[in-house]
Amino acid sequence: MNKLVLFDLDKTLLFGIAAHRKAFHEAFKEIYGVDTTIDIIDHQGMTDQQIIIRVLKKLRFSDSEIKPKLKECMRFMAEEFEKAAEQEKIVPLPGAKELLEELSKRNVLLGMVTGNLEPIAWCKLQKAGLNPYFRFGTFGSDAIERNTLVKIALKKAKEEFGFEFDGNNAFLLGDTPRDVVAGKTAGVKTIGIATGDFSTEELKEAGADFVLEDLKDTKKVLAVIFNERV
Ligand SMILES: [Mg+2]
Repeated sequence: MNKLVLFDLDKTLLFGIAAHRKAFHEAFKEIYGVDTTIDIIDHQGMTDQQIIIRVLKKLRFSDSEIKPKLKECMRFMAEEFEKAAEQEKIVPLPGAKELLEELSKRNVLLGMVTGNLEPIAWCKLQKAGLNPYFRFGTFGSDAIERNTLVKIALKKAKEEFGFEFDGNNAFLLGDTPRDVVAGKTAGVKTIGIATGDFSTEELKEAGADFVLEDLKDTKKVLAVIFNERV
């Protein structure tokens, strides 16, 4: 495998956010005793672990109040998500499945780099029917900062699949400026996809090497990754 393509999940490959929001809400209430939502902070592109910490800090919780219960909070949240997800339709975004299919055929190593906690990410992928394409990932339960997640993904790709990163053969696709910055920090090529809440201009401004409106045109995405003419 001489290419690695890393994908963000929410609003890049799939859509379905209600169960995730509910899981945060229930976990804040049960573990920290606060009735709050993730909307009190700018959470776009943050990892789940980071969102929990930032929301609580905004509510004036101290590190010593947050940290001892953080693992328990993440465990509870994943359980709540699986319950809530039964009621939710989680769907792949247009073109996502076709792109993954094509990349798999071309023997590209595929991985997730998502802020979602690991059990939540796999559950979403499975519900959207995209799980057969992924062999590994790094998750919001692996690190607080997204920048660290990309670096861990490169390390895992080498250790588990023998992938040798040469500076040009790894790509990260994501829908927020934080995805782009995380990819750049790790030195991979970044492709901003404007299927979330940010425009191609905003993603470009964040430093994306390439930007696309969406994943609908498989040939166009492949052209970027394989440096082909469309
Ligand atoms: Mg996203």
